[in-house]
This record gives sequence, C-alpha cells and structure tokens, in this order.
Amino acid sequence: MRRLVVLGGEESGCGSAVLAKVKNLDVFVSDIGTIPEVYRSRLSEWDIPYEQGKHTEEVILSADEIVKSPGIPDSVPIVVAARRLGIPIISEIEFASRYTQAKLVCITGSNGKTTTTTLTYQMLKDGGYSVGVGGNIGESFAYSVATQNYDWYVLELSSFQLDGMFDFRADIALLMNITPDHLDRYDYKMQNYVDSKMRVIRNQRVGDSFIYCADDATIAGELDRYDIKSDILPFSVRVDSNVGGSIVGNNIVCRVDGTELVFDSKSLNTGGIHNIYNAMAASLSAISAGVDISSICRTLSEFRGVEHRLEAVKELDGVEYINDSKATNVDSVWYALESMTKPVVWIAGGKDKGNDYSPLLPLVRDKVKALVCMGLDNEKLLSSFDGVIPVIKDTNSLDAAMVAAQSLAVEGDVVLLSPACASFDLFKSYEDRGEQFKIWIGNK
Ligand code: ADP
Repeated sequence: MRRLVVLGGEESGCGSAVLAKVKNLDVFVSDIGTIPEVYRSRLSEWDIPYEQGKHTEEVILSADEIVKSPGIPDSVPIVVAARRLGIPIISEIEFASRYTQAKLVCITGSNGKTTTTTLTYQMLKDGGYSVGVGGNIGESFAYSVATQNYDWYVLELSSFQLDGMFDFRADIALLMNITPDHLDRYDYKMQNYVDSKMRVIRNQRVGDSFIYCADDATIAGELDRYDIKSDILPFSVRVDSNVGGSIVGNNIVCRVDGTELVFDSKSLNTGGIHNIYNAMAASLSAISAGVDISSICRTLSEFRGVEHRLEAVKELDGVEYINDSKATNVDSVWYALESMTKPVVWIAGGKDKGNDYSPLLPLVRDKVKALVCMGLDNEKLLSSFDGVIPVIKDTNSLDAAMVAAQSLAVEGDVVLLSPACASFDLFKSYEDRGEQFKIWIGNK
C-alpha cells in the first residue's frame, strides 16, 4: 500500500488525508502546531492517524509521497530532509486533481482572486452547472473531491499551491495580475514569484483557455517565454480587442469564439477599476465554460462583492466607513484609493511585508486628508508619508485608531480601513481585523 504523509492538519491537510483514506492509501498526518478541534475530530471520524506538536522524522521520511500544506515554507527542516531523500512533495491541489474528472477553472494573481473566484462560481451555479468552489476559499478541494461529485470546480490558487503542482492542468486558467507579494517566501526575488504564478498555464493544451490581464506589464512581459497552446483571452480597460474583454464606452464587452457579452459597467454594485477587471475575468471564464450570456449578466447585476473587500459598513454623522481589511499589500490599497470619490481618512498599518509605498504617493496626495497608523511598529508608514499627508496619527490599537479616525473625519468624508499590511501584529487574521472594525463602528 502506498504511504502518504500529509504535512499540516488544517483545512487543506485534513482534506488531503480524507481523500487519501477514501482512495485506500496508508495515510498519516503530522503538524508541528496544535491541530484545531474541528480537524482533529474529522481525522478521528475517518480513522486517520495523526500527530501534533511535532514532526517524527522516521515516520515522515518513510513516505512514498508527501502532501504539504501551502502555509509550510520550503525551508522548514523536515521539508528540506524529505527533498534531500528525493521524496516527491506535492500540493493538495495536485493530489486532489488526480481523483476527479471535473473541469477546472483555476484563478490566480496577486489580488482579486477571492472576488473573481466567488463571482465565477456564482455565474456557473446560476447557470445551472454542477459546480464546487475550493482552493484557498471555503472547503478544501481535496475534501470536496472525497465527498462530492461535481462536474466543475472553480479553484482559487495561491502561488504556494501552484509551487507544488506538476501534472495538474487547468481547463480554464485565469491570471489576474502579478505585483510584489509574499517575497519573503521567494528569496526576495520577484522573478521566483512571477514564475510561480505562471505555473497556472502549465500542461495546458489546445482547446483550453488562458485568460489574463493585458494591462499588467509583468504578465505581458512573460508571455513570450512560454509556448502557450491554449486559446488566449486577454482583458483590458485600455485597449479594445476583438477577442477577450475590453471597455467600449461605459460597457464591459467580452468576446469569446463569436459569442459576445455586453454589460453596462455602471450597473455593477462593486466600485473601482479593479472590480471591472474582476467582472471581465469572471465573465470570460463563464463564457468559456459555456454559461448562457443572459444568465451571466444577471449574476453580474446581483453580485455585491465579498466581505472585507471594500465593504461599506455604515454611515455615521455623514461619514462613510469602509472595511477593506483584506487589502494586505500596496497594490490592493492602490485600487482601493483609486475607487474613492470623497476625502479619505485612511487607516493603515500592521505587519509590514517589505512594502514600498511610493506607487501610492500620487493617489495619496490627491485623496487622503489624514492617515491613522494602526500597528505595533508604524515607523515605515510614518517616514513614508511624513510631509505628504497633512495629518498623521500614530496608534497601536484598533480602539485608539478608531477614536482618532472618528475625530478627524467630518461630514462628507470616508474612513477607509485598507491596511497594506498583514494583520498578525494586533489581530488573529485579516478577518478578525475587519470584524473588530465593523463591531467598533456598529456599536456607535
Ligand atoms: P485575493 O484573494 O487575491 O487576496 P481579494 O478578492 O480578496 O483578492 O481582494 C483583496 C483586496 O485586493 C481587496 O481588498 C481589494 O482592495 C483589492 N482588489 C480586489 N480585486 C483586485 C484587482 N483585480 N486588482 C487589484 N486589487 C484588487
């Protein structure tokens, strides 16, 4: 019996273990941390052996293959030791794709993945498809393959998942954009991160589709390096093209193989250019999947965005409060600020990922009246915007930040939480940060 070891015992790892069990593999789960109760009971329920708080080398290194959760860096000693022994290390997505015949729509990029995945999934679902959603979102792909039987999957893929994918093939691959992020996991080399994102088109063949943002200079610069066999569908808000997505007047126009969708961009409920990109990308995927055009338009007009992404929370004393806690890098804040139409009191800060704030300067000068820094160490933000933003407050807690923002905002302003940083200095997660923001303002 083939022996599979799964490193990491949360959503992704636990899902792989259940799938391995269903497929009669000899499976063992190992997690250096504490496995949350919900996953421990799932492992017990499926009678899957596991350990937590340690990695027992002799057990792990006797594996025929290892499935590694995306959160575990390549540099941890047990991964290094397994590689040295030549044990294949794959991602949950690679593993799960071996056991399904479903068609796969795979969405990656630095920003916009969750929004576009959610919207694409909704389009396929509303179009009457048997479809599941997975990857970085909701239930793991592997668990779903083990327990459901869908004809289609829409998968949100991070670069870490793509790194562990080898034979996997996307029927429809979608690349939203590539801007610096997670460089700490890529030896601080942008090209390593770019190469990882480009893996989404790996193994694609004639008849598959590759949808990408033609306005993204990094992606455009990469295309010549690949022998792409799939149908290429670029989307752009700058260039009109007779194939893919473009803007004509106010309309989003998407053309695939003689089929045309026209949708008034003013009818979207989500604002900003980035949401036009997301709408185009999702529509192109759904058209490629064969969903009826009128059904796609209906989904577009009903979609209200995803929680923690430019989420309108409340209007208080004429001030609008917006939760964009998921904006954890500089590029996503650029798009958030770009979409603002009122003077902004901007709450930013947290765990810096090596941010360069200079791309934000023109928008910040134009739109931001005050900056409230919210983090344990705000030095980088303070020095980057000193002399650029008229009022800057240095705070170290959500409560202090909210008090400062409320006192700075006057009727007609917007208070925007769009941190550009990870949340782990003051919060459990970006969701926790967004929830606390909403609770604070909800109680006023
Ligand atoms: P991801 O899953 O890639 O992190 P999300 O859909 O969760 O992307 O959006 C994260 C943040 O990025 C949002 O808060 C929003 O401000 C910004 N954003 C959303 N879509 C895009 C896009 N297409 N391009 C750039 N930024 C985007």
